[in-house]
Amino acid sequence: MTLSLKNPALLREAALVGSRWIDADGAGIAVTNPATGDVIGHVPDLGADETQEAISAAEVAQKDWAKKTAKQRADVLRCWFDLMMANQEDLAQILTAEQGKPLAEARGEIGYGASFLEWFAEEARRAYGDVTPTNTPDKRIVCIKQPVGVTAAITPWNFPNAMITRKAAPAFAAGCAMVLKPSELTPFSAIAMGVLAEEAGLPAGLFSIVTGDAATIGGVMTASPVVRKITFTGSTRVGAMLYEQSAKTIKKLGLELGGNAPFIVFDDADLDAAVDGAILSKFRNNGQTCVCANRIYVQAGVYEAFAEKLAEKVSGLKVGNGAEDGTVFGPLINDAAVKKVSGHIQDATSKGAQVVLGGNAHEMGGTFYQPTILTGVTSDMAVATEETFGPVAPLFKFTEEAEAIEAANATEFGLASYFYSRDIARAWRVSEALDYGMVGVNTGHVSTTEAPFGGVKSSGLGREGGRQGLDDFMETKYICMGGI
Ligand code: ADP
Repeated sequence: MTLSLKNPALLREAALVGSRWIDADGAGIAVTNPATGDVIGHVPDLGADETQEAISAAEVAQKDWAKKTAKQRADVLRCWFDLMMANQEDLAQILTAEQGKPLAEARGEIGYGASFLEWFAEEARRAYGDVTPTNTPDKRIVCIKQPVGVTAAITPWNFPNAMITRKAAPAFAAGCAMVLKPSELTPFSAIAMGVLAEEAGLPAGLFSIVTGDAATIGGVMTASPVVRKITFTGSTRVGAMLYEQSAKTIKKLGLELGGNAPFIVFDDADLDAAVDGAILSKFRNNGQTCVCANRIYVQAGVYEAFAEKLAEKVSGLKVGNGAEDGTVFGPLINDAAVKKVSGHIQDATSKGAQVVLGGNAHEMGGTFYQPTILTGVTSDMAVATEETFGPVAPLFKFTEEAEAIEAANATEFGLASYFYSRDIARAWRVSEALDYGMVGVNTGHVSTTEAPFGGVKSSGLGREGGRQGLDDFMETKYICMGGI
């Protein structure tokens, strides 16, 4: 191991099953650094038995946890938040080592991840029920909120920390337990959260982190009648599979799936602001987020100027190991990601697109890729319909507002969307017309703990963050009080 951490206990080569830590002992799943190919360490390769053990432990622990007051639960979450912030640098180092994003972004993700613990600690005490005026003089209609119970989470590699807290914080705030399977590519960020959760005083068994074969663990989670909710962030393909597997036990589902975000720049936009917003939205995490701009539609009057300004700014940004100062573009996560990116570029150029910047693998080798800008992009190219998940900005030209809206909505996905305009009437009109769960108007960044994150259509179900995020981990119980 090459990381020098202030708190080395955070990089634990183990999994947490119920109340016991299971060590990898140098075997199991090897975790590599995508910037160097070095093995960082191992986590155990666990299966059905350990998943079942974790679910059983969660079932026991959840009953006690639900009986605590909201304030007591909030205090533990708040303590976990403080520990995260105290260990922000180490957590960021671990994240960059296993995921590749620049350290500055990793530090940002830890802050963002921690914000969910803080927010849901606050929200825990505001899980209000209600009393509705009665239909009969001798009855009262009362509704209370209760935790859904044992939950299971499956999380991806692109936000190895924040995708955990965005699920775990509302779950624990509500009074639920959680069995988590993190991505096999980035498990150390998850395990570190388990170490801190224990230190914060989260009761044993309430939070398990099971590493191992995804299909086996997911199969046990979805088949279990004890698990009342599955919360998943990842591909639409796997999300649909989990949805199907969960049908037999009628679970609640939270699905944060793929996106294909449109980013529209109208003639009346502040062009410099639009360029900055496009860079933020397109290239964050090297284009590997589900809210990254995937299709950039620019109105004819500003098309050339936008392309020029974008290329000029992006060409000055550094590609490199995320651990080095000044890096803006880290490596892609793996070879499959490189293949998809180069496939999209080849497909586009073979159908007439021009490469304005980049277009090839980076000379650093490995999974480093040149940030790429394409012009002359049309709807028959793969970039128009598929999520690229890499540093490719395809620029489509349009003339009318209606044409841009129609093109933006012509996808099975509906997660994030963005547009730039200084016309207030247009801002309302277009916001309402976009068939998406989230719309950024004159901004390339919408994610924040206070707001509901989520999509429509094939982008998923439910919302995470905001006050809505707590609701998704609670059931409403109606109590009809009679004989009054
Ligand atoms: P991505 O393409 O972004 O890696 P995936 O949907 O493949 O997205 O992965 C997201 C998470 O889903 C990861 O934790 C992965 O291990 C998990 N996963 C993959 N296949 C399955 C499966 N068959 N059942 C349950 N989880 C799965």
